[in-house]
Amino acid sequence: MTTPAPRIEATDLKRSFGGRAVVDDVSISIGAGEILCLLGPSGCGKSTTLRLIAGVERPEAGRIALDGVTVCDKSTFLPPEQRSIGLMFQDFALFPHLSVCENVAFGLTGKRAEKLNRVKELLARVDLERHINSYPHELSGGEQQRAALARALAPRPRVMLMDEPFSGLDNRLRDGIRDETLGLLKDEGTAVMMVTHEPEEAMRMADRIALMRDGRIVQQGAPYNLYNSPIDKAAAAFFSDIN
Ligand code: ADP
Ligand code: MG
Repeated sequence: MTTPAPRIEATDLKRSFGGRAVVDDVSISIGAGEILCLLGPSGCGKSTTLRLIAGVERPEAGRIALDGVTVCDKSTFLPPEQRSIGLMFQDFALFPHLSVCENVAFGLTGKRAEKLNRVKELLARVDLERHINSYPHELSGGEQQRAALARALAPRPRVMLMDEPFSGLDNRLRDGIRDETLGLLKDEGTAVMMVTHEPEEAMRMADRIALMRDGRIVQQGAPYNLYNSPIDKAAAAFFSDIN
């Protein structure tokens, strides 16, 4: 059997700040339709890893291929807009001067009617249909977040990089939107890397968890593997709050 090339393949990434390696020989590989949660305590290097893969930050060493295309190595560095990725952050702002409809349609190409259909489909998914003509300042924080989510999903990116994207949502909406979003990405065959510091979220959403500590991935595998066979006491303690 041949295995298709991973959608995300990062090899031996390294990045230091002030002489300290905050990302230290990190390798990550994610296939189509797979959700990898990069999990670890605050400050361990999760966001920096994501920023390296996105191209917002440049590594000192390592190689990144997205969908089989080398976007970063010793002699190559493509900026984020030239990598076929979707990005979602907790505070990913909408364009204030554009309506919800225009925001969601922003990255779309094609015929007007097709774009409008896609916008409506996504706004229905995030329960914002009635706000299609609203402007960001007319929305609550949670609604803005959901609109930003629809915007990130709209162009059907083959790779989605998410940094704690659901932590700004209130609890009532959070589980539904999270399940819906990740389900949608999975259906579309997107490779997802989701950063989180919450073991419970990773356990629930991930196909695979990469556990990070002090700039390194210390353990990687299916959620139940990490939960049942933590690599050391610190990993066990990290998962012990989950019931
Ligand atoms: P996490 O997302 O896991 O909380 P980060 O990747 O944001 O961790 O940060 C890892 C470490 O790198 C932290 O100690 C942080 O202070 C440091 N760091 C991140 N970005 C920079 C930067 N631009 N300049 C200096 N230090 C940074
Ligand atoms: Mg972070």
